[in-house]
Amino acid sequence: MGDYHVHLHKHGPYDGEGPPPGQYPIDHIEAFVETALSRGADEIGFTEHLYRCVESAPVLGTWWKEDPRKDLREYTKSYVASERVLSLERYVQAVVDAKDRGLPVLLGLEVDFFPETAEAVAEFLEPYPFDFLVAATHWLGAWGLDLPDQVFEFNRRGPVEAYEEYFRTETELAASGLFDVLAHADVIKKQGVFLPQPPEDLYEELAVAAARGGTAVEVSTAGLYQPAREMYPSKPLLERFYNHRVPITLASDAHVPGDAGRDRDKAIAMAETVGYTERIRFRKRVGEMVPLD
Ligand SMILES: [Zn+2]
Ligand SMILES: [Zn+2]
Repeated sequence: MGDYHVHLHKHGPYDGEGPPPGQYPIDHIEAFVETALSRGADEIGFTEHLYRCVESAPVLGTWWKEDPRKDLREYTKSYVASERVLSLERYVQAVVDAKDRGLPVLLGLEVDFFPETAEAVAEFLEPYPFDFLVAATHWLGAWGLDLPDQVFEFNRRGPVEAYEEYFRTETELAASGLFDVLAHADVIKKQGVFLPQPPEDLYEELAVAAARGGTAVEVSTAGLYQPAREMYPSKPLLERFYNHRVPITLASDAHVPGDAGRDRDKAIAMAETVGYTERIRFRKRVGEMVPLD
């Protein structure tokens, strides 16, 4: 049982906790591994954010630039500039070194999905020795849809339109087959904005697309600690994925060692409730089904 979504650096300005941005001392990696193992995980997949790595600037481009809303454009431009302080090369080397030392770690990445650049991004990542890639829709144009500072945008475009736009893009990601796992598949709810009824049609389309694209989905406990106060995906959405035999991984989305493997018992319990008995594990981007627990 792995934890397939773990970051080695926190967001925001460096506050002195953990190593400075872009540094990867082995004891920091070990601290994540130790915590996850103590909670019953048997391997840790690190998934640094691609957009935070300086090398991603040319390939991801300036996705906010064409958005008609000036306030969102300006916010995102400066947000990305402040967050882009990590190095893909050093990250990859650090995890590969940890693996060579015999630590139960996997090399992953959290890739930002934009329909316009997805193929170029997949090609850019091809030469690296990744075990798996999780991918996420974090932005719709210049709108950082899961950021607390931009939650006002739900009112401006309306929650229904926001959900539809999000799921349209997420469905495109799932269908593309370019990446291995959908990260936090219904992250549009993160700031606690829900529709009066779960959007079952949108759920169904997403699950069908994932099945066709051969894209797995993570069961993530991170949402329990956000205003949404529930796991990603919600149970009704996870049921859709199960109906279409979409494989799952387990994820904490930890950004500090103490959160690695957090609440994995809850993730397993929900997966079992909807019928899952297996999960997918990855080596060099090849998946294999193994027992859930
Ligand atoms: Zn994410
Ligand atoms: Zn993440």
